[in-house]
Amino acid sequence: GMGMGAVTTLGLVGLAGFWLSQRAIEPVEQSFQRLKQFTADASHELRGPLTAIKASVDVMRNHPERIHPKDAKKLSAIASATSQMIELTEDLLFLARTDTPSSAFEGGRSPIALNTILQELVDLFGPFAQEKGVQIDYQELAAVSIDGDRSQLSRLFSNLLRNGIQYTPSGGRVILRLMRNNRFAIIDVKDTGIGIAPEELPFVFDRFWRADKARSRREGGTGLGLSIAVAIAQRHGGKITVNSQLKVGSCFTVYLPLNAAATSSLPAGQRRE
Ligand code: ADP
Repeated sequence: GMGMGAVTTLGLVGLAGFWLSQRAIEPVEQSFQRLKQFTADASHELRGPLTAIKASVDVMRNHPERIHPKDAKKLSAIASATSQMIELTEDLLFLARTDTPSSAFEGGRSPIALNTILQELVDLFGPFAQEKGVQIDYQELAAVSIDGDRSQLSRLFSNLLRNGIQYTPSGGRVILRLMRNNRFAIIDVKDTGIGIAPEELPFVFDRFWRADKARSRREGGTGLGLSIAVAIAQRHGGKITVNSQLKVGSCFTVYLPLNAAATSSLPAGQRRE
C-alpha cells in the first residue's frame, strides 16, 4: 500500500544520501589534511626569515650610539612586530601539528606530576604578575599525575595563566587550583579581571577571536592561546570549560583524565612514577 511505498522510498533516499556522503567525505578530509600540511609548511618557512630579521634588528638595537634618535622608535616597533610574527608562526605551526593525530605526541606520553608544572609556571610568571600588580595564589588541593606530554601541558597552563594576568587590572588576583575527582585532574585558573560578556563567551575558544581587537593587539598575544589550550586538552582526552562575568572575573577549568595509577587511593608520594 501507500505506507510501504513511502517507507521504501525513504529508505532508498536515505541509502543514496549515505552513499553520497561517504563519497563526499573522503576528498574533503584529504583537502583538510593538505590545508593543515600547508599551514605547517608555511609557518615553518616563515620562521627562518623572521628570525633573521629579528636577529639583525637586535644587533642594531645593541648599538644605540649608531642609531639616529629618530630611528630608534621605528626600530623598536620593527622588533616588537617581528617578535609577534614569530610567536604567531610558532602558534600556527603548533596548531597544525597537534591537529594531525599521528604527530600529536611526538615526544611520547609519560606520567606527569601536575603540581611540578604549575609550580614552575607560578615562578615563571611571578615577575610579569608583579609588574602588572597582580597577585598569583597557587593551591595544591590534591597531588595529581596524569599521562601526557610535559611541554604541551606546560603550554596549556601557561596560556591560561598568562591570560589571567593579562586581563586582570592592577590590584587583582589570579587563583590557580589543582584538584581531582575520581576520573579527572581538575585545574581552575580563576581571575578577578575584566571578565567576558555572556554574548561573547561562546567565541572565546575560536581561532583568532578577541573581545577587543584594538586592546588585545596592543597588549600582544596572537589570539590563538585558547585554541591551543583546547587542542592540547583534547589531545589528552580532556576538555576546558569557562565561567565568566563582566568586571568580576573569569574562571577557566581544565579536566584531564587521570592515569590508571592515579585512580588508586595511594597518596602521590607513595606511588611509583
Ligand atoms: P590572546 O590572549 O592572544 O588575544 P586567547 O586565545 O588566549 O588570545 O584569548 C582570546 C580572547 O579571549 C582574548 O583576546 C580576550 O578577549 C579573551 N580572554 C581570554 N582569557 C581571558 C580572561 N582570563 N579574562 C578576560 N578575557 C579573556
